Amino acid sequence: QVGRTGGAARRAAVASAPVDDEIVVRIDSLTKRFGSGSVALTALDEVSFDVRRGEVVALLGLSGSGKSTLLQHIDGLQTPSAGGGTVLGTNLATAGRAELRALRRRIGFVFQQFHLIGRLTVLENVCTGALGSLRGPRLGLFSYPRAIRERALDHLERVGLADWAFQRADTLSGGQQQRVGVARALMQEPTILLADEPVASLDPESSGQIMRLLREVADQNQLTVLCSLHQVDLALSWADRIVGLREGRVVMDVPTKGIGRDAVMRLYARVGAGPV
Ligand code: ADP
Ligand code: MG
Repeated sequence: QVGRTGGAARRAAVASAPVDDEIVVRIDSLTKRFGSGSVALTALDEVSFDVRRGEVVALLGLSGSGKSTLLQHIDGLQTPSAGGGTVLGTNLATAGRAELRALRRRIGFVFQQFHLIGRLTVLENVCTGALGSLRGPRLGLFSYPRAIRERALDHLERVGLADWAFQRADTLSGGQQQRVGVARALMQEPTILLADEPVASLDPESSGQIMRLLREVADQNQLTVLCSLHQVDLALSWADRIVGLREGRVVMDVPTKGIGRDAVMRLYARVGAGPV
């Protein structure tokens, strides 16, 4: 059974925010090679899958299986070697730099190591998430337009950290810093949120809280989330679908609803991990 911690809440949330039929990410025979000749390495090998609006997809795979490379393609940061796909209408294989930059503005990114500026306040860190839509560099909280500061505070409230707005970011725990990372990613009002191992540096409790938060922000905004991680149980609790990668190939692509944990575990063996 998939009914695990948060499972009931998740199902309720999913019921209130049905997944749209619109396909926002279509990855189509995407191949990425690094290097050439004897040092050539195929990081992604004819990867294909679709993601619909509002879906939360967990990307599972061992280190080196291609998760980060795949997320970077969706973010328009890498160019396919062959094949490609479409993200929010942008063709990954043919788009020019300006189009990719425009795509990136509609995509939020959450990092494993948070990447906050430790000496700045929490609120100012969240404000930096709006830099893509502002001109020029910013120095100090009050160099941001008031509307931006207010929106940043709203997002902090949403992730439960409004009381920490004026603390230095480096005084927060890892779990709190990642919440700030999510608030910052929301500042550009993204359509897609990519999270590259957002819980890999966190303890189990904080990990669950961050996954719950990603689920909540997805449901509240019809936001589409792709999140790489290693814990199959977190994927089962909080994602709609699991896509498993092994050596750059998709080896599983299953919904988490209506499929037993045992069946998922049998499929998960395909990614090459030991018993969980
Ligand atoms: P994961 O995120 O699942 O750990 P990655 O996408 O980081 O996997 O890496 C997939 C493979 O591609 C690995 O073998 C990695 O060494 C290689 N790779 C990733 N980025 C580069 C790069 N910029 N140059 C050369 N090889 C790379
Ligand atoms: Mg990675």
